[in-house]
Formats: sequence, C-alpha cells, structure tokens
Amino acid sequence: MGNDSLPFVTVEVEMPETYDLLIIGGGLPGLLGAVLAKSQNPHWSVALVEKENLLGGNLVGEDALGDHFELGTHLLQETGSAEIDRLLRESVDPKHLLALDSQVGDRVGTIQGGRAFENTGYPAVMEQDQTLSKVILDEIIQIIRRNEAPLTSISELRSTPLKEAAIQWFGESAWSSVVQPIISAKFGLTDSLTGFVLELANLSRLQVASEEIWQSNSHVDGFRARVAFPRQTHLPTKFRHDRKTLYSREHGNKDFVLGLIERCTTLGVALMPSCDILNLDPYATSMKVSRDGKVTELRFKRAISSLGVSATGRLIGVSAAVQQRRISLHLVHVKLNKPMPSSVCYFYDHDHESSIFRITNYAAFSDRLGDKRLTVELFNMADHDGSSIIEYVKNSSALSSLLPQSFEVVSASCSKTLSLAVPTTQNVDELLAQERLLSSQSAGVLAVCGVGTNGFRFFQSETIKDITALITEMI
Ligand SMILES: Cc1cc2nc3c(=O)[nH]c(=O)nc-3n(C[C@H](O)[C@H](O)[C@H](O)COP(=O)(O)OP(=O)(O)OC[C@H]3O[C@@H](n4cnc5c(N)ncnc54)[C@H](O)[C@@H]3O)c2cc1C
Repeated sequence: MGNDSLPFVTVEVEMPETYDLLIIGGGLPGLLGAVLAKSQNPHWSVALVEKENLLGGNLVGEDALGDHFELGTHLLQETGSAEIDRLLRESVDPKHLLALDSQVGDRVGTIQGGRAFENTGYPAVMEQDQTLSKVILDEIIQIIRRNEAPLTSISELRSTPLKEAAIQWFGESAWSSVVQPIISAKFGLTDSLTGFVLELANLSRLQVASEEIWQSNSHVDGFRARVAFPRQTHLPTKFRHDRKTLYSREHGNKDFVLGLIERCTTLGVALMPSCDILNLDPYATSMKVSRDGKVTELRFKRAISSLGVSATGRLIGVSAAVQQRRISLHLVHVKLNKPMPSSVCYFYDHDHESSIFRITNYAAFSDRLGDKRLTVELFNMADHDGSSIIEYVKNSSALSSLLPQSFEVVSASCSKTLSLAVPTTQNVDELLAQERLLSSQSAGVLAVCGVGTNGFRFFQSETIKDITALITEMI
C-alpha cells in the first residue's frame, strides 16, 4: 500500500496446468471476484487476465496537472453486502480511508439556465411554477395509488422506451414539461432512447420546493422514490439511507485497486496484466493469450468474463450488439486557483445550451486541505480537439455559474476520450439479445458479468454484486 509509483507491479506467475478459475478483465469487480473466490476456496488456482499493463479498469485514474484525477467512477458507495463492504474497507490503509456519510458523499447539484442549484441532482422545476408543480404532484400521487402492488423500480424500467418509462414513473405532465425538454436538449432524439436515460441524466426524481408537501406525503414509499426534497440535511434521519461512501485520502479509488492487488498477491492469485486474449471459445476450456509477444495457452475449468456482454460477445465472435448510436465523452481535468466554496460533490448540467454532463468537485469529499481539482465530463463534442475542448470548458457558463468572480481556472488538461453506446431502445434490445445468445452458448464453463448482464446492469456497485453472485453460485 501507499505505493506512489505507476504502473502497478507486474506479478510474475508460474502457469499451472489448468486454473480452477480464470477471470477475464481486471476492473474492480474482476479483482474483488478473484479475492472472494480464492479466499473462500483456498485450494483453487485462480488467475486474472488483463489486457492493459495497469489493473483497475475505470478505477485506475490518471495523473495530470501534477496531481491525481479519477476517471469514470469517483466515489464508491457501499454495496449493502457486509462481506464485500468489509473487503473494500480493508483494502485501504485505515489512516487514509474515508467513510463519508450520505450527507457528504451523496451531495449533488444541478445547473439550470446558468444558475447552480445546490443539494439536489434532480430538476428543480417545481420551484418555478406553482400550478405545474401541483398538477405533477397530484399525478404522481394518483400513479402511486393506482399501483397498490410493489412499484416497478426505475432500474426495472431501463429497457422500456423513455417516454413510456417516464410516464409510468412521473405521469404525462412531468414527461411533457420536465423530462422531454431536458432529454431532447441533451441527446437530440428522444423516442428511441430508453428509460435508462432517466437514470443516466439523473432524472429519476423530481424536486419539490416545500418541505411541508414532501413531509406530508413521505410516508408513501413510492413518493419518496419519485420526489426529492432539496435540503436533505433538513430531513429526519429515518428518511436518509445509512450507506457510507468510501474514498481514500491518498490517491482516491486507485488505493482500493492497489489494496486488492496486494490482497490477490498474498492469497496467491495469478495476476496477468498486459495479456491480450487471442481467442475465446465458449465451448473450450482453454484460450490463447499473447504476453510480451509470446503466445501462451491458458487452460481453465471455469471462467468468468467481467467485461460485460458486448465486449465478451466481440471476443467470442458471436456479437449481436451493433451499438447503433455512440456518443463521445471527454474528460477534462481542471485546477482552480483556490478550492471551490461548495460542499457539493457533483454538479449535473441540464443547461440546454451546453453539453457538459457532470462536474466533480474533489474538495467536497477528498478531505485534502486546499483541494482545487475538478473533473468535467462532456458529451457530444466529437468535433473538438483537446485544446478547443479546454477553451470550451474554461469559458462555459456551467463553470462560471459555479465559481464566484474572483475564481480562476489555472490549468486544464483534456486527457481521455471515451466513446459510449447511448442506451437507445435498439441498443438495449441488442444487449439483451446478446445476453441471451451468450447464456445459450456458454455451456456452463464461461459466465459473463458486467454491463448488459441481468437486465442491463451498468453501475460499479451493480457489477460488483453481479460477480459476487456468480462466485457464490460457483463455489
Ligand atoms: C465516464 C464514466 C462515468 C461513470 N460514472 C459512474 C458513477 O458515477 N457511478 C458508478 O457506479 N459507475 C460509474 N461508471 C460505470 C463504472 O465505471 C462501471 O460500471 C465499472 O467500471 C464496470 O466495471 P468493469 O470491471 O466491468 O469494467 P472496467 O472497470 O472497465 O474493467 C474492465 C477491465 O477489463 C479489461 N479488458 C477489456 N478487454 C479485455 C480483454 N480482451 N482481455 C483482458 N482484459 C480486458 C479492461 O482493460 C479493464 O481493465 C462510469 C463509467 C464511465 C465510463
């Protein structure tokens, strides 16, 4: 632990005849899966194959502007499984481990029409128009009354077309006056997008302005799931969840990865970074990998691909996922001349003029004195190059609405460009078809977890739970 240097240590391993378990993909779920499998079954030989020279996937982060920045996932919320949460906590030096309560790690805001709204990630439309606000609330309450059976959760609505999902969740008025305008400004087309976008664009709850209205309806579960109140700190504790958000004071998420690598090494998991898989046959119990230019055959009794369904499908060559629509996502790391004067971790931008999706304010959770780091995620800027993206961010109304006049951006770096498949109805259908295809082909030897499995899982804690369930089933 506390290893400042990158890349991570490459562990030289002896290759046994046949591994009892092979895990493909060294992201956090892959690493956790290896630790779980080996600690529950010490006599198993377990290997983990990763194509990059660094383990950790989206949790590796990157060094820029003389500092360390995160990639996709900035904060790890506890999963609710005691064993996994203990493993995560134990992977970081207690001196550096931060367990933030939901009032710290969850605090988000939105930028709308050039104004920053703190304390909620949900559109604050109800603050603006009293009549509309009442119509929407009444409609939501009627929806809840009509559904006496347990409510369909927003995650179950992910593969439903967006309009249908939004109407089922919030009603017609909220769809036409709130959700639809935001979605159409952000993604262009609306109809082919899926309910997943509700979650992605943080539209899974609407916000009421009056604490009184919220309190008088809050005894109904469905109401709390659909309607938020801006100042969470004002609410009685019974309405707040008690899951902690984990972070490391030293190098953020990278420390969890380093801790799990150390744990794997102690347990005797064979870690194989820089290993290119050349073939993966769902019926075979061996595969060829290229490492340092040498081709080796790895044999196994069972394997888990923790790459999600489309990447696994591509490896196997049974790809049904055409990924019709992709969008670009740029990450811009920013350093300010002083820490941001806000305790909000994430600002979501619903400004119709801009493509900025999320601004992360590290000062709100890193517990580093004088932390001046921000990371800005931008959608749909494929035509811009690194320097024009930096200029766009520096001059953006989103940033200026967050920063008081006396603040400056001292440096910015556009270090990573990702391309993501937008969750359109078609893409989701393809992912589901791919999942069916893979499960019909895997013949019990290869299990698949990650994005697109079990009803379109996407978030870090879901992929972690997914691999945990697979390991438990196998043992
Ligand atoms: C910009 C962005 C923002 C996000 N924000 C959040 C968030 O706020 N909260 C949240 O919970 N989730 C968030 N996510 C999602 C989260 O990052 C993923 O759910 C999580 O990383 C999935 O873990 P994984 O192990 O499946 O994938 P990864 O972390 O990507 O790991 C997969 C690993 O497999 C390796 N690999 C790929 N192909 C091969 C191959 N052929 N052979 C061997 N290895 C291979 C990759 O190099 C990688 O190391 C975000 C993602 C992005 C991109």
